Amino acid sequence: MPAPSPSQGSTGVIDKLTVPLDAASDEQTEAGNYFVANYPPFSFWKPEYTGEVHEILNSPRPTDTNLGVYFHIPFCRKRCHFCYFRVYTDKNASEINAYLDAGIKEFERYSRTSYLAGRKPQFVYFGGGTPSYLSIEQLTRLTDRMKDLFPWDETEEVAFEAEPGTLTEKKLEALREIGVTRLSLGIENFDDHILEVNGRAHRSKEAFRALGFAKTLGFDQVNIDLIAGMMDETPENWERNVRTAIEQSPDCVTIYQMEIPYNTTIFKEMKESGRISAPVADWKTKRHWVDWAFNEFESAGYTVSSAYTVVKNPETTKFIYRDSLWEGADLLSAGVASFGHFGGVHYQNQADVAPYMTEVDAGGLPIFRSYRTSHEERFIREFILQLKLGHTNLAYFREKYGVDPTERFSGTLGDLQRRGYFSLEGDEVLVSREGLLQIDRLLHDFFLEQHRDARYT
Ligand code: SF4
Repeated sequence: MPAPSPSQGSTGVIDKLTVPLDAASDEQTEAGNYFVANYPPFSFWKPEYTGEVHEILNSPRPTDTNLGVYFHIPFCRKRCHFCYFRVYTDKNASEINAYLDAGIKEFERYSRTSYLAGRKPQFVYFGGGTPSYLSIEQLTRLTDRMKDLFPWDETEEVAFEAEPGTLTEKKLEALREIGVTRLSLGIENFDDHILEVNGRAHRSKEAFRALGFAKTLGFDQVNIDLIAGMMDETPENWERNVRTAIEQSPDCVTIYQMEIPYNTTIFKEMKESGRISAPVADWKTKRHWVDWAFNEFESAGYTVSSAYTVVKNPETTKFIYRDSLWEGADLLSAGVASFGHFGGVHYQNQADVAPYMTEVDAGGLPIFRSYRTSHEERFIREFILQLKLGHTNLAYFREKYGVDPTERFSGTLGDLQRRGYFSLEGDEVLVSREGLLQIDRLLHDFFLEQHRDARYT
């Protein structure tokens, strides 16, 4: 693995970024999912429960639940070695158009259900894959139809993920015109060697060019994604990355710690060569690098706003998609493999384009698996997801669920307090920096017994 190299810095920064290998050796990055994206784990969602989704879609529309709309674009220029999504790098324009038409049909079917008819989204999200892989014409046609079916005139946020190498000034202008407010650039690293060995399609020149255009076009919010611990990452390069990100002055920076799920190219190579640990930095090093980055961003005036994000101005830089979902908003999700949620019922669409298209063509909804949550599971879901923000309010849970988390989780919270990860201040549960840096690992302690050892896929 590309172990952190010995100190070479005259400033002492590299010393601070270097974790002694012996201290870190019990925390090698092994294959598997680390990130907790939802609850209960996806492996509990089943094809035999999909009737639950239709039942709720036939019920009256709720009056007190926000709605979000998500569309998934599964196309990319190239597959990154760490990618665990089902992505397609070989589809031509007519195949992509057929996919977009299927997505529109899906939205049309949802717009006719009693649960969703007439509702206007609070937020809209384009994820992938690479939404910016689409042409301007494809994007305009898609979003015009989406707006006809679920109007955006009351929408507070339109978030859009982009790969820097797919962006031109013209495409960014079109995105502004369409109504995108939060542009998220998947930069991951500013070093060309690291981008190359990790299989990214873009290079730093394209990242700087996209950032330059984005800044002049006046999006409400520009986010950049970075990953701590990519293959070949070093303390010196991580320091340069963070300093470069600060110089570029985006509104928001999201930092993920590299994980190696089973269906990645890196895992396949590990398996072939009989390796147990992945060729990336260990968890202790990654936490250390993110901690150092958070400190640097704070010194530059940023605020840590979740386990993964720093924002320049917490008053104006919100992330409505995240915050609303973590408070139980409905999410109408369309497109292959996408995850949605209506009134406590989770669902996921068919994960491959072929069955997805077949089901849409047959006139139905392409839902593959589903799960109706209990009152207790909804309470746990919101509680653990909100803890990723670094704080959560007990009164919220008493009022919404009639449950006091300090009573329900007295043992777990007490244990995490003793270990210095959590504290209580009045009605707030606060997560310490050390806790925040490994929050996904700690959240499993709040899971119901039957969900603890579940595969998170
Ligand atoms: S750009 Fe994102 S979705 Fe596409 S291959 Fe890379 S990690 Fe996967």
